[in-house]
Amino acid sequence: MEKIGIVGGGAAGLACAVMLARKGASVTLLERGERLGRKLAASGNGQGNVTNLNMGAEHYFSDDAEKVARTLSRFGAEDTIAFLQSMGGAFVPDGRGRVYPASRQASAVTDLFRREISRLGINVCTGTQVRSAAYDGKFTLAWENGQMCADAIVLAAGGMAAKNFGTDGNGYALARAFGHTVTELSPALVQLRCDPAAVRGMRGVRTDAHLTARRGGDVLFEGRGDILFTESGLSGDLAFRASSFVRAGDELLLDLAPDVSEARIREAAAKGTREDSLLCIVHGAVARALYAAAGDVRALAARVKRFPLTVRGTLGFDYAQVTKGGVPLAETDDNFMSRKQRGLYLAGEILNADGECGGYNLQWAFSTAFCVAEGLS
Ligand SMILES: Cc1cc2nc3c(=O)[nH]c(=O)nc-3n(C[C@H](O)[C@H](O)[C@H](O)COP(=O)(O)OP(=O)(O)OC[C@H]3O[C@@H](n4cnc5c(N)ncnc54)[C@H](O)[C@@H]3O)c2cc1C
Repeated sequence: MEKIGIVGGGAAGLACAVMLARKGASVTLLERGERLGRKLAASGNGQGNVTNLNMGAEHYFSDDAEKVARTLSRFGAEDTIAFLQSMGGAFVPDGRGRVYPASRQASAVTDLFRREISRLGINVCTGTQVRSAAYDGKFTLAWENGQMCADAIVLAAGGMAAKNFGTDGNGYALARAFGHTVTELSPALVQLRCDPAAVRGMRGVRTDAHLTARRGGDVLFEGRGDILFTESGLSGDLAFRASSFVRAGDELLLDLAPDVSEARIREAAAKGTREDSLLCIVHGAVARALYAAAGDVRALAARVKRFPLTVRGTLGFDYAQVTKGGVPLAETDDNFMSRKQRGLYLAGEILNADGECGGYNLQWAFSTAFCVAEGLS
């Protein structure tokens, strides 16, 4: 029986371990944290957005969109639902195609994996940070007080995002030891920083908005969704999506009442005083901030439709949900086996593919885990 060592007990490592053990492989799962699947348990604001029914390569950034498409066609959203349900539980979509456990409790998804891993008798070593990986006829994975030999290994150590979940980018060094390269890395799905004075008074307001991001005359991103004003800028689904496209110095224009025309705002505003002219058009706290900045009704209406902000940066890797960049897909075959070292596989966020907000990143972890398990059987 093939002996397989998996580095990282996150979404990709857990799925890979279950899929391989079901095929009869002897699997050892090595996780540096004291518990498996901690990031998975925190996903989707604690609700566990595991995939999205509107699946497709167009929702991902990578060095090979066709490979992403091939990967998703082998194991897509329906396969993820079936796979998770094969361990128990029930998974259902919301009105926007985002799929969650019916209980809306992400930690229960991790518990499903823990239960299945224990049922399958998979060897789990927590509190075990793999410090080196080498090949000399067999693979050796070594940690502080021990090591193991394996016929094949899977690097599923994640990326650089949210290091409080154990992901500080150390997995890239393990890949580099076999000759892999790593593309430029940046935080994605992360809050945007702007001039705090520009959003003063709006902190905590969540609103539907349309956002246009520009650099020079070029439009970098356009989209509609939820914005959450923070002390120093913007959070929420729409800001997260934009974070993949923008950098310091880029201009943002927010339409804070996307379903109301500028003419209607002027007409409605004329019925009140300058201090209550935006009633039922934008949130009161936003209105107060706008009243303070805009001169007359015409300027106020224009500011509702084109509220300008300049990006100062993001909150960085510690606050990001995913890493943009990683080991190029081109350095692996279609089962994500390394083209540098036979028997070495990579799965999940360590690879150079990141998805939009909405279940796409966990889907990538599960899809790549599936391909790896296929490659190893
Ligand atoms: C707060 C938050 C919310 C999110 N919500 C969603 C969501 O709702 N939907 C979605 O699709 N995506 C979401 N994501 C992104 C998604 O969780 C990740 O893309 C996904 O978990 C990546 O899976 P992975 O297995 O590749 O890496 P991870 O889940 O990051 O797991 C990697 C594991 O490897 C371990 N590890 C690292 N180095 C070593 C080593 N040397 N030895 C042993 N173990 C090691 C780490 O401790 C970690 O447990 C969210 C991310 C965050 C931070």
